[in-house]
Amino acid sequence: LVQLKDVNKHFGDLHVLKDINLDVHKGEVLVVIGPSGSGKSTLCRTINRLEPIDTGTITLDSQPLPEEGRPLARLRADVGMVFQSFNLFAHKTILDNVTLGPIKVRKMKSADARKRAMELLERVGVANQAEKIPAQLSGGQQQRVAIARALAMQPKVILFDEPTSALDPEMVNEVLDVMVSLAKEGMTMVVVTHEMGFARKAADRVVFMADGQIVEQASPEEFFDNPQSDRAKDFLGKIL
Ligand code: ATP
Ligand code: MG
Repeated sequence: LVQLKDVNKHFGDLHVLKDINLDVHKGEVLVVIGPSGSGKSTLCRTINRLEPIDTGTITLDSQPLPEEGRPLARLRADVGMVFQSFNLFAHKTILDNVTLGPIKVRKMKSADARKRAMELLERVGVANQAEKIPAQLSGGQQQRVAIARALAMQPKVILFDEPTSALDPEMVNEVLDVMVSLAKEGMTMVVVTHEMGFARKAADRVVFMADGQIVEQASPEEFFDNPQSDRAKDFLGKIL
């Protein structure tokens, strides 16, 4: 579904993505882990063209990623993104946060968008907060709204960049539970996370990045129980 071929990216002199080759299959849950600065966020951001790449190709459904204009807006609609910092529209209600994209980009009728948004908010457990603004919600609730907002666009894939790392510990599970249920329903997901419990439970494949390279990829069982590279062993030794 998403295919990266020989992707390279620099920030100035810094080579942040080095010959990345990666296929994300439809329905797959891919967990990306690795040390800070290894390029995980950059990888996610290149997949929806928040960051341009220097060389290589990225395709979605075998189509090259568009550079700009309406095709780019459609691509962004097809690739949902959930950030560490929620990134909700601060001055809009929860309901508006979820309906805006479908109305503007998908040209959905506002009544239909509201109905669908309420179903999604129900599903992530925050329907009773629909008329509030983001600041009136807990971090865990805001992140669940961000997931509902991504789902409202009916994306082909959702990218999660450390979706729980800004949350108080007691709120982590309420967000992970929503993600596990999405995974079970067959949503294609790329998840950057240090939550090894989630990786073990939900991942089809774990990709380990270090220094801008994919160093290892394996099933979660293989990766956690029997990491191959010294860098992966060292990393797991520090976080487990
Ligand atoms: P973390 O676990 O801390 O989130 P990461 O694996 O997501 O790390 P990236 O954010 O992708 O790492 O960053 C990879 C490298 O690129 C880092 O060295 C970072 O400092 C650098 N970098 C990221 N964004 C930019 C930018 N906009 N301009 C310059 N350098 C950047
Ligand atoms: Mg990051």
